[in-house]
Amino acid sequence: MPAIAEQLKNIRQKMGLAAKQAGRDPSSIDLIAVSKGQGAELVREAMKSGQDYFGENRVQEAQNKFTKLRPLHAPLKLHLIGPLQTNKAEAAVLLFDVIQTLDRPNLAEALAKAIRKAGRSPKLYVEVNIGQEPQKAGTAPKDLEIFLKYCRETCLLTIDGLMCIPPQAVDPEPYFIDMKKLASKHGLKRLSMGMSADFETAIRCGATEVRVGSALFGQR
Ligand SMILES: *Cc1c(COP(=O)(O)O)cnc(C)c1O
Repeated sequence: MPAIAEQLKNIRQKMGLAAKQAGRDPSSIDLIAVSKGQGAELVREAMKSGQDYFGENRVQEAQNKFTKLRPLHAPLKLHLIGPLQTNKAEAAVLLFDVIQTLDRPNLAEALAKAIRKAGRSPKLYVEVNIGQEPQKAGTAPKDLEIFLKYCRETCLLTIDGLMCIPPQAVDPEPYFIDMKKLASKHGLKRLSMGMSADFETAIRCGATEVRVGSALFGQR
């Protein structure tokens, strides 16, 4: 039982240190516990240890896990961090508090429609394919400006932040720095970047939230 509490403390300590090194206020950086592939028991345990923010990759899995958990934990904020199909936009709008993976015009349209219908609006982040990798989701950095304009002016969506998954097995720092510049340029306050292997670097580069899975819950 104390395992999760211990890991949470550990990670928060490391986050705090990285924040201080960068001259930032540690309380300004959120920890999103990535619970994909983990059971509801572990999530419950993390909640009991004071963890409020969780990230899931799939709508269906999140529905199964969190529909029962939500009434038990009022401060819960559930983040969608995996790709979203347009036909799941409605379900996602009803379930999530933050959708971090808005990355294309037809999804912006589907979300706008779902938000009007549901009368409920999750916060929205645009995912940027910061390493310009062909196999990865996300808006290309060069298209970000026009995509944001489309979301805001055509779809009337409010965009709160940016999210990225930098290329694997290389130093993520230059990518994190580019993301910080993009967020500043476009007046976006939230910046979701950094995972188990690189959350401290992300914090030093300006992340306002880090998404940590395996370092917290163990291997999936
Ligand atoms: C799985 C996942 C994470 C967490 O990764 P870990 O390396 O386990 O910390 C973070 N962000 C996204 C988008 C993910 O899919």
